[in-house]
Amino acid sequence: MRRKSKCVLGIEGTAWNLSAAIVDQSRVIASAESSYHPVEGGLHPRAAAQHHATHMEQVIHDVLAKGKKNNAKISAVAFSIGPGFGPCLRTVATAARALSLSMNVPLIGVNHCIAHIEIGRWLCNVADPVILYVSGANSQVLSYRNGKYRIFGETLDIGIGNALDKFGRYAGLQHPGGPKIEEIARKAKCYMPLPYVVKGMDFSFSGLTTAAKDALAHAPLEDVCHSFQETAFAMLVEVTERALAHTGKKDILLAGGVGANSRLMEMLNTMCQDRSAKFFAPDKAYMKDNGAMIAYTGLLMLESGAVLSVEDSAVRPNYRPDEVEVTWR
Ligand code: AMP
Ligand code: MG
Repeated sequence: MRRKSKCVLGIEGTAWNLSAAIVDQSRVIASAESSYHPVEGGLHPRAAAQHHATHMEQVIHDVLAKGKKNNAKISAVAFSIGPGFGPCLRTVATAARALSLSMNVPLIGVNHCIAHIEIGRWLCNVADPVILYVSGANSQVLSYRNGKYRIFGETLDIGIGNALDKFGRYAGLQHPGGPKIEEIARKAKCYMPLPYVVKGMDFSFSGLTTAAKDALAHAPLEDVCHSFQETAFAMLVEVTERALAHTGKKDILLAGGVGANSRLMEMLNTMCQDRSAKFFAPDKAYMKDNGAMIAYTGLLMLESGAVLSVEDSAVRPNYRPDEVEVTWR
C-alpha cells in the first residue's frame, strides 16, 4: 500500500498577500487568502502588517476547515521567514509559532525566494532550470549548483515590480501598477530609447524609472509604458540568456509576480526557441506570492529534517536565497 504523504500548512505574508495553504506531495489540498491593497500610494510595511494581523484568524480558520473536509492531518507548520517587510514577517512568524506549539508539530522557516522556485519546479515538472525570479522587491537570475541556488545576476537597486509600480504611481495608476502598465502598453504606437543598464550579469532599474517618469512630459503614456517594458524585459532576458549559455542548462523557469506579464513570457519564449531551450511558467496564481509555495517548500524541508526550534525562528528581513543550504536536492 502506498504510504500516505505528509501534509504541511504554509503561511505566506512577506508583503501584500496573506495566504495560507495545505499541500501534500501530490497536490494543493486547501488554500485561503486575504490581500492588502493600499488605498493610495504604495505598500506600507506597518499597514500591511496590521492587515495581516486583522485577517490572520479568518485565513487560518478557512484553510484548516477546508483541510479538515479533505481529511488532511497537519504534520508541520511552515512560514516565510524572509526576505520581506519586518513587521509583516513578525506577524506571520508569531502565528506560525503559536500554531506549531498548539498542534505539537515541527516549525519550518522557509526562504520566500526559494519557495517561488520550488513551487515552479514542482508544478512545471522541471528538474534543473535556470530561474528568472521577478517580483516586487526582488529580481534575480539563479540556478542550482552544489547544494545552493547560486545567484548569477541580480538588481543593483530596486526590483522590477517596484520599478513598474513606482512609475505607475507617478503616472497616476493605482498600486500595483505592473498589470495596468501591461494593458496600456498594448496601445503603444512607437518605442523610445530609455536607459538600458546591464553591468556584467547585474542590472539596474532606478535610472530607467526616472527617465520614464521624465518622458511623460513629452510622450504619450502608452508609448512610455511600452518602452519601459521593452527595455526592462530585454535587460532581464539578456542576463537570463547568458546564464543559460554559461551553465549549459536547457530549461528556463519564470517565477514571481511580474512573471504574469505576457510580454515578458513572449520575450523569454522567443529567446528559448532561438537556443533550443524550453520555457516553463506555472499558473499565474502560483507565480505571485502564495501560501502553497511556502507549504510545498516546507514539505521538502520537513522530509530532509530542516526544522526549527521556536528560539531559532527569528525572522530574517534580508535573507538571501544563496544563504540557504538546500538539503532536499
Ligand atoms: P509578488 O511580490 O511576487 O507577488 O509580485 C508583485 C509584483 O508583481 C508587483 O510589483 C506587481 O506590479 C507585479 N505584477 C503583477 N502582475 C503583473 C503584470 N501582469 N505585469 C507586470 N508586473 C506585474
Ligand atoms: Mg514574492
